[in-house]
Amino acid sequence: MVQRLATVAALLLPFTSGFLLPSSPLPRVPSYRSASTRTLSMQYGSLREKPLKVIIAGGGIGGLVLANALQRHGIEYDLYEKTREYRPFGGPIQVQSNALAALEAINKDMTERIMAAGTTTGNRVNGLKDGVTNKWYCQFDTGAPAQKRGLPLTRVVDRPDLQSILLEYMDRSRLHTGVEVAEYTQLADGAVDVTLTNGERVQGDVLVGADGIWSNIRGQMHSESPGKESATYSGYTCFTGVCLARPHDVKEVAYKVYLASEKYFVCSDVGKGRMQWYAMLGQPPGKKVPDGVQGAHLIKEYQGWSREVLELLEMTKEEDINQRDLYDRPPLLLKGWAKGPVAVLGDAAHPMMPNLGQGGCQAVEDGYRLAQELSKITDRGDVAWALRMYENQRLVRSSAVHGLARIASDVLFQSKLLFSNPVIGSFVGLMMTISMPLILEFLYQNVLDESDWGNAKGRLSNMAAYEDQSNTYKSVREAQQALATKERQLQPN
Ligand SMILES: Cc1cc2nc3c(=O)[nH]c(=O)nc-3n(C[C@H](O)[C@H](O)[C@H](O)COP(=O)(O)OP(=O)(O)OC[C@H]3O[C@@H](n4cnc5c(N)ncnc54)[C@H](O)[C@@H]3O)c2cc1C
Repeated sequence: MVQRLATVAALLLPFTSGFLLPSSPLPRVPSYRSASTRTLSMQYGSLREKPLKVIIAGGGIGGLVLANALQRHGIEYDLYEKTREYRPFGGPIQVQSNALAALEAINKDMTERIMAAGTTTGNRVNGLKDGVTNKWYCQFDTGAPAQKRGLPLTRVVDRPDLQSILLEYMDRSRLHTGVEVAEYTQLADGAVDVTLTNGERVQGDVLVGADGIWSNIRGQMHSESPGKESATYSGYTCFTGVCLARPHDVKEVAYKVYLASEKYFVCSDVGKGRMQWYAMLGQPPGKKVPDGVQGAHLIKEYQGWSREVLELLEMTKEEDINQRDLYDRPPLLLKGWAKGPVAVLGDAAHPMMPNLGQGGCQAVEDGYRLAQELSKITDRGDVAWALRMYENQRLVRSSAVHGLARIASDVLFQSKLLFSNPVIGSFVGLMMTISMPLILEFLYQNVLDESDWGNAKGRLSNMAAYEDQSNTYKSVREAQQALATKERQLQPN
């Protein structure tokens, strides 16, 4: 129920926060400090004498981006990542135009490397199809809203490539792997004392929980269990796979979502002659299909579906398939993301459904914003204030994205109901065709500070021109026309 209410509220948020208000959606906290914080900061010292030190729990996309963003401002950090080795789930990931803009502000060279490692999808058609008849319901143009703002087009990048580039640019001596953050205590002087599971204790001015959906830090901050009992099961289990395949329309189409009742199938070109797919099955949580038979299970589940779907399943090796139940959590609209010197970021703050491909992109925006706010303070007594500023600028926007991803998931779940009647189906398709550009306008709005935006605009426009040469279409409209011609030729007479 709470999730549904949050979803409805969040649906309205883009139209209030994105279009009617400037990039900072909530009123700014007044820039004064109370007498008690002033006294505290006098005790604790100014940042000129001893630089700020941030402890980051979690080295996923969010934690790594934050490390790079802090480094840009000369803020000290230590990043603790519980795994010894990075074992990515889900293969390649969409790094959308909004995230590329924030990354570019953090480090231009790093972003160029990320862009060069990726495959451009923003200059091709994306859209929804009937999973059985293969008929298009609607097509989207993700390129036009990005180009309108002079942003680079969305790329798909292999997660290990993205992570290794982010790791390469951070100070590796500050990365501690195989170490888990267990809990924290706020000290009397405003600092934070962090206990690691190896028994060690470390202290810093700020602790950032970038520790994902099962975040210990969020759990402690809001006295909630970090486990499944406090999360919301989406209704779906998700199988992911990557295979070598070149569909006939790969030059014109980047990703397609195939719909039918209580299951759907998403596939995307991910470059190097590979296609990535997600098979979403509506079922109760915890029903794990044994390794080794997942491909066969899916081929059975998708019997009678479009050959385009079945071919990808048939071409995927068993060892390249993974399964995971999908959970999210309601936005922390009332509870907030920051308390004293502690804040949460990325999935720890806003775990969302993957339908919009924005979970990681929002974590990138979080990392940029948090570092910006910390860089503006000159005194330790202002740490809590900076974290509140970060929360103010991020919470509404990311909650709106979270809500939209939830709604997309719910609509897809009910797709048979919505699309089985041709009249209702055409209407829903039309609504999606109309609403998607508005959603993209909101997603790709500028979240950078004025100075960064001013500096980045020219460079970003140049980067928008620097696109994947293997793709010959100058715009999605051009790709759309070529696709229509191709599909007409393929139709049986
Ligand atoms: C199927 C699927 C497809 C997706 N596709 C996209 C996409 O195309 N684009 C996109 O932007 N997003 C996508 N997402 C979402 C994206 O993967 C997440 O939003 C993103 O990974 C969140 O990053 P994070 O750093 O916040 O959390 P995580 O990636 O979960 O990282 C958290 C890290 O913290 C570590 N950790 C956990 N607890 C502790 C602790 N106590 N101490 C120390 N370390 C700890 C973990 O080991 C992990 O490395 C997708 C998600 C799924 C499931």
